[in-house]
Amino acid sequence: MPNDGDGDVIDIRGGLIPGPLRQVTDPEETTEWEQVSPRHIDPADWERFETYVSEIFDAFGMDLDTPGTRETPNRFLKAMFDATSGYEGDEKLLTAFPNESAESEYNQVVEGGISFYALCEHHALPFHGSAYLGYIPHERIIGLSKLTRLVRLFARRFTVQEWMGRSIADALFDLMEPHGVAVYLEAEHLCTQMRGVREEHSRTVTTFWRGAYEENADLRREFLELARNGSRTS
Ligand SMILES: [Zn+2]
Repeated sequence: MPNDGDGDVIDIRGGLIPGPLRQVTDPEETTEWEQVSPRHIDPADWERFETYVSEIFDAFGMDLDTPGTRETPNRFLKAMFDATSGYEGDEKLLTAFPNESAESEYNQVVEGGISFYALCEHHALPFHGSAYLGYIPHERIIGLSKLTRLVRLFARRFTVQEWMGRSIADALFDLMEPHGVAVYLEAEHLCTQMRGVREEHSRTVTTFWRGAYEENADLRREFLELARNGSRTS
């Protein structure tokens, strides 16, 4: 098997930084959600895909006959496969814990920013940013690591920001049965930025409201304030 290039990061001084050191932002980061629908790609199919990618990259101008590029089609496929591993997980498998104390209806929990990387379904290029999740607990609470998994479960797919946010909001609402759920996503879309269609570093913001947040403007305001303050310091 060729080295897929994912195990190590080459730093600018030419040394090797071991893989785990990359996870500086989130020690609880995991893609190891329960694989309820693992994808199996037949090795013969994979080889065929490699020839397609080689053909395309070659036609676009890449010299595929160098030490650096010989394995690029395979690495590209592997990277795309890893970046879409969200299809294999199941949000229902996340555990929520009973909430011991009786919460007031307006006692919201806001967590974020949870970094995410997704592939836009229109161009299969990345959009990436931060997610802030808010909820008003009823009988259950959920840990930050679970919320992180939930975000990445829906990010690691071919998707759009709107659909991703809606899926997170609905899954969280089903899972927690809370009084309300709020989701705030801000992301940069490389499909527009890389091609100069849109100003660099412009961010797309989307919000999603369920339950009490839909009716209560004060709750929405408080949530947005908390999320935006968080986003400034991150
Ligand atoms: Zn796009």
